Amino acid sequence: MLLEGPRTPLRLCEVAIPEPRAGEALIKVEACAVCRTDLHILDGELAQIPYPLIPGHQIVGEVVASRTLSKGSRVGVPWLGRTCGNCAYCETAQENLCDQAEFTGYTRPGGYAEYLAADERFCFPVAKKHAAVEVAPLLCAGLIGYRALRLCGEAERIGLFGFGAAAHQLAQVLRYQGREFYAFSRAGDLETQQLASELGASWAGGSDEQAPKPLDAAIIFAPVGALVPTCLRAVRKGGRVICAGIHMSDIPAFPYSILWGERRVQSVANLTREDGLQFLELARQVPIKTAVTRYPLEAANQALADLRAGVFAGSAVLELVRPPGGRTKAR
Ligand SMILES: [Zn+2]
Ligand SMILES: [Zn+2]
Repeated sequence: MLLEGPRTPLRLCEVAIPEPRAGEALIKVEACAVCRTDLHILDGELAQIPYPLIPGHQIVGEVVASRTLSKGSRVGVPWLGRTCGNCAYCETAQENLCDQAEFTGYTRPGGYAEYLAADERFCFPVAKKHAAVEVAPLLCAGLIGYRALRLCGEAERIGLFGFGAAAHQLAQVLRYQGREFYAFSRAGDLETQQLASELGASWAGGSDEQAPKPLDAAIIFAPVGALVPTCLRAVRKGGRVICAGIHMSDIPAFPYSILWGERRVQSVANLTREDGLQFLELARQVPIKTAVTRYPLEAANQALADLRAGVFAGSAVLELVRPPGGRTKAR
């Protein structure tokens, strides 16, 4: 599924199976989850998008050819596709900030396709125990939520603003870790608030409502800049506000008094391989259950439209290889 320009539908077409370069594996895609970042790419909101491109960066697939990964094994291919390995960032455990980084489904071809070539060093081993569609959403929604949580430090009481795929998974981690979470959805979205309550939220309401208690930290998953001052008002002194998306609308001006008291605002950029390994292990322990709506590859435009419209809870996943007896139905 090829993106040829901003705000145009993806086009189903035949392309050659990629020729892996040195250090790359050829992977047959089993499933690729849809991420809000894909919408930002579709809308031309990220810098220097190299059209035409194949989106998709939450990929589970089978190794077809590789020098270092065993053939037939299953891997996960995340957003961070490659780094330079020797810049100041790469050398200090901040490879997520590498200036030369390449990103799957953005500056490298992604997983809305039957095959992709991926740098072997940036693939994660993934067990075959679970369906590929259930694992795929861990690879960005889950992982970025986990990195955002790490930036919250020891916070006990955490606000989640925007309760989509990432928050759905993070809620399970927070509950497992015995932390309290407060879920904020779009005003009036009672269905999502109900889902958050079922997942163990101490409180669930609209982002226009006030948290019943001061929060230690807030994570913003919604791409809505106006939530930054909202969250600064919701956190206690010393509290952190973590912006977890790659793109956000402008943040309105706010009085210094709500940042005062050593409150912090910080963004989350990309992931490190260490985040991925830690998170996949944690996901196994919890264990995290993903809520998945399946689409065939050729229905990628529908999956993206449904994500934009908030049609489903959890994640949309393109299913390329169906398990025996499994069924993919287009919505
Ligand atoms: Zn680097
Ligand atoms: Zn993503």
